[in-house]
Amino acid sequence: MTLTVLLLNACVAFTGFYIISKIYHSTLFGSEHLRSFIIGLMAGALGLFLMYNAVEANDTVRVDLRHLPLVLLAFYGARSPLLIATLVIASTRFLFGVTEQAVIAFIATFIVSIGMLWIHRLLLERLFLQSIFLNIWALFIISIAIFINMGWGPAFVSLVLTIWMVGMLVGLLSSTLTIDLEKTTRRALEYKQSSERDHLTGLFNRRVWDRYTATLGEEDRTYNVLALDIDHFKQVNDTYGHGNGDLVLQQFADILKVETRAHDTVARIGGEEFVILMYDLTPKKVDKVANRIRERIATEVFYLNNFPPIQITTSVGVAHGTALSIKRMVDLADSALYQAKNEGRNQVVVSTYETPEPIMT
Ligand code: GH3
Ligand code: MG
Ligand code: MG
Repeated sequence: MTLTVLLLNACVAFTGFYIISKIYHSTLFGSEHLRSFIIGLMAGALGLFLMYNAVEANDTVRVDLRHLPLVLLAFYGARSPLLIATLVIASTRFLFGVTEQAVIAFIATFIVSIGMLWIHRLLLERLFLQSIFLNIWALFIISIAIFINMGWGPAFVSLVLTIWMVGMLVGLLSSTLTIDLEKTTRRALEYKQSSERDHLTGLFNRRVWDRYTATLGEEDRTYNVLALDIDHFKQVNDTYGHGNGDLVLQQFADILKVETRAHDTVARIGGEEFVILMYDLTPKKVDKVANRIRERIATEVFYLNNFPPIQITTSVGVAHGTALSIKRMVDLADSALYQAKNEGRNQVVVSTYETPEPIMT
């Protein structure tokens, strides 16, 4: 009978874990605090449900799987939700009677949670081992609490054996579920990163640039496209090797990251061709920014393998315009870049295009 009740509870717990894990990985929540609060409350409510459907060992001792939602949160290292759920589960135990047993259960719940946070930190990357130890710790403390409440005897042994059996079974099954979800989420994030980023420099790649800028002409905003191309880069490859050429490209990209703001879009759209999209700058200001980047490149020392450091220069073409299609902007920036190359390289050329006023007839 005890086993059946606990197994039925385990099924409910399992469903609850799935929902909590989904919310934990969801990107729908704007506020991290709100998500933590909801997860904490849900885990607390699940614990309360499990407690409500407990096996009553005798008039005062209740045995259930209320610790499992806490194991789940500890496994995620979700401190605030764990604190909320621990508070809910520990204090609602008093709804089932303000007794000495309830006080012991209250204290035991906190000991379980604190110990689990420590285990989580200790076995951070050993997911399955961590899960085993979290469950063992929780069941160990629960067994001590039951022992204090019931004392030694056949009833105690049979109860503790049952709770260890069901607890370990469900605990490990739910960990398998969480590990799977965790791995899938991590992998999805990695795939997203690798499909959007240029693997050499970490900048956005051409695909993201095209997608992101596809709708730009529809906005009635002023924006600037900077097209950068390293001067005589072929010579770098020919003299120092392709590997060193790659090193230069990486350092070049790092400078672009440092010299732009978070809301600028920086992409590598070709071998040694880079583009930057900047909003709402006057032609004078964008000229200043472009020249600052150009100067920074020209004065920077680029470190190579097996060769002394070198210096390089870059030419920059800038298109400044309002409500133009991105294709037109890039064409304008490319023409300006071509002009900068023709005029001797290591310089900035700004091409300004203002939408003509419509002619009223
Ligand atoms: P210019 O001043 O006219 O730009 O001269 P350039 O030598 O830089 O000429 P260009 O821009 O046409 O040269 C591009 C070179 O970039 C050719 C190619 O070997 C090199 N390149 C393209 N992609 C990569 C890459 O991923 N790594 C390395 N190391 N080199 C690359
Ligand atoms: Mg080029
Ligand atoms: Mg070049």
